[in-house]
Amino acid sequence: MNLHEYQAKELLARYGIPVPPGRVAYTADEAKAIASEYGDTVVIKAQVHTGGRGKAGGVKLAKTPEEAREKASQILGLNIRGFVTKKVLVGKAVDIAKEYYAGLILDRVTQRVVLMLSKEGGVDIEEVAAERPQAILKYPINPATGLRPFEARELVKQAGLEGNLGKLAGVLVQLYQAYVGVDASTAEINPLVVTAQGEVVAADAKIVLDDNALYRHPDLSRLREAEAEHPLEVEASNYGFAYVKLEGSVGIIGNGAGLVMYTLDLVNRSGGKPANFLDIGGGAKADVVYNAIKVVCKDPDVKGIFINIFGGITRADEVAKGVIQAMNDGILTKPVAMRVAGTAEEEAKKLLEGKPVYMYPSSIEAAKAIVEMVNGGGR
Ligand code: ADP
Ligand code: MG
Repeated sequence: MNLHEYQAKELLARYGIPVPPGRVAYTADEAKAIASEYGDTVVIKAQVHTGGRGKAGGVKLAKTPEEAREKASQILGLNIRGFVTKKVLVGKAVDIAKEYYAGLILDRVTQRVVLMLSKEGGVDIEEVAAERPQAILKYPINPATGLRPFEARELVKQAGLEGNLGKLAGVLVQLYQAYVGVDASTAEINPLVVTAQGEVVAADAKIVLDDNALYRHPDLSRLREAEAEHPLEVEASNYGFAYVKLEGSVGIIGNGAGLVMYTLDLVNRSGGKPANFLDIGGGAKADVVYNAIKVVCKDPDVKGIFINIFGGITRADEVAKGVIQAMNDGILTKPVAMRVAGTAEEEAKKLLEGKPVYMYPSSIEAAKAIVEMVNGGGR
């Protein structure tokens, strides 16, 4: 899960990293009000889930509240690499003397969190990484000890950063603590600014949270931005299953990511287009199946549904109960092709007898049939 700059800064501040004061504005007038409150030069920054905002015109300085209003109105609505700007961060401008780069990522090769540090921070770190990788210092951190202050000071020196050694090293230690504390997969400060007054502040921040650890941070999962995702994906994630909206017309429900992917392939090969990926997971009960059907049926593109269940810890009769309940409640009105096999298969078939569900002995037959129904207008 990607966080916005203002959210990432809020988290870094919790771990003691200095960030310029700032607030979010949704309109140009709000931006003006914030600027007059600060009574100082501010920087207006697009809050979108992509980098390179500076170069795209999404970061602008404003010396007066009126200028802040103007700049905000230029940035609001701006399309940056496909992301439309709906809000801006109005932050106090800092007097920049140096712009450095500090980042943490999980390196799968060393199986460690790796600190990256460079004195060539600012807007072009990707270029530096591509053209002069040696300008970025990389340091795998021992998970048993974490990043210790003496190591951080050593790294700051090695990377050639200038300024208050203790403050710079302190930020690196805090960044590591934040990374581990919020279960991030990426945490980056670019630029890490040394001001003309010698202060060290994070002028930009990027944090990506590890989705698999979000359950440990209910406060953070609330930051999930509904507008950035498809509304049905948000609803599905609230129900606790994996759903991805796709472009086609055949709704897909299955148990297990592998089986669902296989089902998508079968539908494609049969000449159809899947409308979604939906994995109800292992051991799903009737209510989960019911909710899955509810989500899939809310998609107006769906013309028919293929339910593919291989009963292991998931009982096929539970799936059947969910399907029947959805039919009884009038939620499921579209044609359904089903293949059920494995645990409680016979019970499921018995329950579904006489119901308007097309049952097939194999996935391939079910795929062909649902595609025919959807493409050919019924059977
Ligand atoms: P992006 O990385 O998306 O381009 P940044 O937040 O890094 O956006 O901003 C780009 C540049 O704008 C920074 O490298 C810095 O020079 C300047 N900048 C950003 N925030 C501030 C600030 N609070 N005060 C002064 N300059 C800033
Ligand atoms: Mg940046």
